[in-house]
Amino acid sequence: MISSNFLSVGSKLQILMEPFLWTNKKLPKESDTNESVGHFFQRHFGNEVVEYLIDPFVAGTTGGDPKSLSMTHAFPELWDLEKRFGSVIFGAIQSKISSNKKNQGPIGASKIKHQRGSFSFIGGMQTLTDALCKELGEDELKLSSKVLELSSHHKENCLGSWLVSYASPHRKHSVKESFDAVVMTAPLSDVKTMNFTQKGAPFLLNFLPEVDYVPLSIMITTFKRENVKRPLEGFGVLVPSKEEQNGLKTIGTLFSSMMFPDRAPKNVYLYTTFIGGSRNRELAKASRDELKEIVSSDLKQLLGAEGEPMFVNHVFWSKAFPLYDHNYGSVLEAVDRMEKNLPGFFYAGNHKGGLSVGKAISSGCSAADHVISYLESSSVEPQK
Ligand SMILES: Cc1cc2nc3c(=O)[nH]c(=O)nc-3n(C[C@H](O)[C@H](O)[C@H](O)COP(=O)(O)OP(=O)(O)OC[C@H]3O[C@@H](n4cnc5c(N)ncnc54)[C@H](O)[C@@H]3O)c2cc1C
Repeated sequence: MISSNFLSVGSKLQILMEPFLWTNKKLPKESDTNESVGHFFQRHFGNEVVEYLIDPFVAGTTGGDPKSLSMTHAFPELWDLEKRFGSVIFGAIQSKISSNKKNQGPIGASKIKHQRGSFSFIGGMQTLTDALCKELGEDELKLSSKVLELSSHHKENCLGSWLVSYASPHRKHSVKESFDAVVMTAPLSDVKTMNFTQKGAPFLLNFLPEVDYVPLSIMITTFKRENVKRPLEGFGVLVPSKEEQNGLKTIGTLFSSMMFPDRAPKNVYLYTTFIGGSRNRELAKASRDELKEIVSSDLKQLLGAEGEPMFVNHVFWSKAFPLYDHNYGSVLEAVDRMEKNLPGFFYAGNHKGGLSVGKAISSGCSAADHVISYLESSSVEPQK
């Protein structure tokens, strides 16, 4: 970053000086828990870093923008580093050192290396869900079924405390089944449409706040390799919103066939381009033809991709990501209230704990731990 040419000398100096300028003494006594991501990084590194690093990064990973996203909800770890160390850079180095020390463990103990980076599966992400499906067995899963009603009849031993009614594609009428506990992973906007009852009385969900969802369009395009004049190496490009003044309208493009060569024949490049997000909600809803024009124009400017794409696929996600904005605390409080007031009900997924597949999985694992403790405390043998 320091040797690159997209930041001015002033911004580079500000990054280098951050550990020296940000000591604990500089921190305000009362921290502003409503602070936006943009304001936080602007305080530490200046405007240019926000415009050219933070803005494209948050748009590409959360669909959001630095002004709308709340620092405490979007980047709790960095928020915490500032509270502990003052400097974000110094804090990150310190925590890396201490986590390395922890991982070393006693002499002779086996070292587990946690590698970070992008990964997928041969055949795409569907491979993961297919594998889970195979492991659990199709009889245990009710695929393509829609949960309609959940009734809690809390019993001392928890056995069959929950009655779940769902619509199945194979049945004319809805089906009811009993369960000892429920882990809900549907988006909160869908949970709101489900009927909850507790001991026969309606359990109203009117305390669930509206979640602001970010819309996004995804365009998958392919170009013959010889038609791409400047095929950059790497995982892709992210476009700062400021670059709209230079005609660029997309959020970013993943070089999918470069990261995962099984995704396309050898003679073509396959690109996955993101459009819309909170920076341009209207554009996310544009037609396939309009988006094809926009993507072709951006890829021409960025990579020298000439002519029409050979293949185009468009997917519109009206609720791609929940926006972790300043009101997101009220969403988490409402989830907490459901979990407290409905024994044996647990919530997991990307509305809680982070916006990525990895974080959704770890939130599911933590919900599973809660279920096990709940059932153990009620002396029910958790089933394998
Ligand atoms: C375009 C796009 C690109 C992304 N790229 C990446 C990436 O590269 N890397 C990454 O880590 N993350 C990525 N993400 C984020 C990732 O997809 C999400 O974080 C993850 O899918 C969240 O998982 P989840 O289980 O919480 O929610 P979801 O995947 O939204 O699953 C919720 C499920 O609940 C179901 N449901 C809703 N209502 C009911 C009901 N009444 N009954 C039964 N089921 C119901 C829905 O059908 C849905 O299947 C991307 C997201 C989008 C939109």
